[in-house]
Amino acid sequence: MQEILIKLLELQNIDKELAILENKSKDMPRRIEGMQLVNDNKKTELNEHQHNITELKKKYKLLEVDLKETEEKIGQYSTQLYAAKTNDQYKAFLKEIENIKKEKAKIEDKLIEVMETIENTERELKHLQSESVEIENETKDKITMLKNEEVNIHKAIKERIKVREEICNILGKDSLAIYERIRKNKGGIAVVVVEGERCGGCLNPLPPQKVLEIKKNDRIYFCEYCGRIAISPITRNSNQ
Ligand SMILES: [Zn+2]
Repeated sequence: MQEILIKLLELQNIDKELAILENKSKDMPRRIEGMQLVNDNKKTELNEHQHNITELKKKYKLLEVDLKETEEKIGQYSTQLYAAKTNDQYKAFLKEIENIKKEKAKIEDKLIEVMETIENTERELKHLQSESVEIENETKDKITMLKNEEVNIHKAIKERIKVREEICNILGKDSLAIYERIRKNKGGIAVVVVEGERCGGCLNPLPPQKVLEIKKNDRIYFCEYCGRIAISPITRNSNQ
């Protein structure tokens, strides 16, 4: 009987390990995605900067065209100014030239402003580019590490499943059915070790008589509170 109890405890330990491994395995795609997301966000930021620079350069070119137009207009009005036949015409052209010169000054200010923004954005872009290269390399390394970890987890799961099958063969149908039923109903824990005089599962104190009975290890005993299979520490020690 003690052999069965030892195997039940072994089975419980294997199932605990399997649960941890399976959770890790399930969590892996989320972790890999998370890594990828950090990388993707940096790339998006980089693209946005590149796009901004392109737009700013377009704006700069348009302003240059505007500037040329104002210069041409000033030239035209200047020619007309000298050809003015009346004083009123002369004054009107002069006024027009003044207005266009003001417009020209505004465009020149804008050109400087846009150029400064381009220079700043280009500086930021350079910084982002080196950051992005770093993050991309880091991401690659980390994902490789996670994928290796994933392979190891799957290997460990396979190994545990093999050991589990061997234990199940030794246990036989009846003990296994009891184990599986309790495991299903008790959050994955069917076998507990009595700690002192308490159930190692629900932690309720067990009657001294019951503790003595469990110590005999002559059959499967159950905690009368949580219904789990209760094994005495002697069994666990003889297992080690
Ligand atoms: Zn209990």
